[in-house]
Amino acid sequence: MDASRTAGKAKRLSILGSTGSIGTQALDVAEKTGCTITALTAHSRVEMLEAQARRYHPRLAVMADEKSAADLRVRLADTGVRVAAGMEGLCEAACMDDTDLVLNALVGMVGLRPTLAAMQAGRDVALANKETLVAGGALVMDTAARHQVRLLPVDSEHSAIFQCLQGAPPGNRALKRVILTASGGPFFGKTREELKRVGLKEALEHPNWSMGAKITIDSATMMNKGLELIEARWLFGVPPENIDIVIHRESVVHSLIEYDDHSVIAQLGVPDMRLPIQYAITWPERVPSPVKALDLADWGKLTFFRPDYDTFVCIGACREAIARGGLYPAAVNAANEQAVSLFRQEKIGFLDIGTLVCSALEHALPGTGGKGETLEEILAADEESRRYTMEAAQQLTR
Ligand code: NAD
Ligand code: MG
Repeated sequence: MDASRTAGKAKRLSILGSTGSIGTQALDVAEKTGCTITALTAHSRVEMLEAQARRYHPRLAVMADEKSAADLRVRLADTGVRVAAGMEGLCEAACMDDTDLVLNALVGMVGLRPTLAAMQAGRDVALANKETLVAGGALVMDTAARHQVRLLPVDSEHSAIFQCLQGAPPGNRALKRVILTASGGPFFGKTREELKRVGLKEALEHPNWSMGAKITIDSATMMNKGLELIEARWLFGVPPENIDIVIHRESVVHSLIEYDDHSVIAQLGVPDMRLPIQYAITWPERVPSPVKALDLADWGKLTFFRPDYDTFVCIGACREAIARGGLYPAAVNAANEQAVSLFRQEKIGFLDIGTLVCSALEHALPGTGGKGETLEEILAADEESRRYTMEAAQQLTR
């Protein structure tokens, strides 16, 4: 990656999903690091996007649907901020010509086209939206390479690995292993029997991080770590068999790498997403941050455990999906998005999420044909797996 292009000057950011957990923290970081904002987008929180637009003066504000956009247009009539809607608006926000970096903080597959659009327009992308790298990894990495743009990780584990790799021998050639840390979520140590009874409220109570609802549930099922394993495979080119997972309850060691000589390098910090967000924005520079300094003696001890793969079956499903390659990662991701949505509507139980993800891995795709290299086949596999999962969910409740 050519670090010289934007080093040392305040960046111009377009933030997709600016009303979410990552989006609002990104705005906080952008303000403190002197960045300017060119575009902001939201799903349906019109009032919040209005307030953000008034504060940060983007040229473009985008709502998911035309009705919310019409509402925002009236509210922002005195500001000169242009308002757009839908996927077209999102892609426009990703391609603004006065933008240095597009921060994709959307949740789910809706983020795929805007990421590709940003790259095709020559924009660097800071990616929090892990689902789209899981589903479209080959296509996204190929698009980044063809357009010579950077893909900077925002996810704390991948930021940690990226930080550990600074100054490494070129091409990651001495890199032997990646070790992802996982908090274990709210249900660490629980048996399947105990998990039969947990509900939405318990699944939404993460011990260490305050995040959007979807990723919070992914952390409870540990699907999040499976998604991150696939994400790491694409970002760092490491074969999945060389990516390990270790439970680390305190979320202070954000991940580790091991070199050929068995030296292990880790990145540590208090659990605060503003740190990885800031590094993605200011890289290769480092600047002061409002994040609390780490005092290891305060923590006293840090603990590590092996994951319970029998209880948290989503990790194994993701590992198998990336080992098979092609469209399998898209299939497990789509099944999970659909299952999490059903769980949030309290239509299925907590353990059903893992059952549906594993089932989609085996049955959602009719053949092994697709390589997952075109947008059309990725979107078709996504749709097919969602449809399969809805049907499979009906069977569960009978
Ligand atoms: P969130 O639900 O808090 O925010 C999502 C944002 O996307 C919101 O601004 C919402 O308006 C927008 N959005 C959602 N659906 C949309 C749609 N259909 N069309 C247009 N806009 C839409 O989610 P989050 O927790 O901020 O997570 C965002 C991404 O970052 C996810 O992929 C998540 O896995 C990843 N991530 C989050 C955290 C965290 O701490 N929250 C940490 C690591 C990675
Ligand atoms: Mg993470």
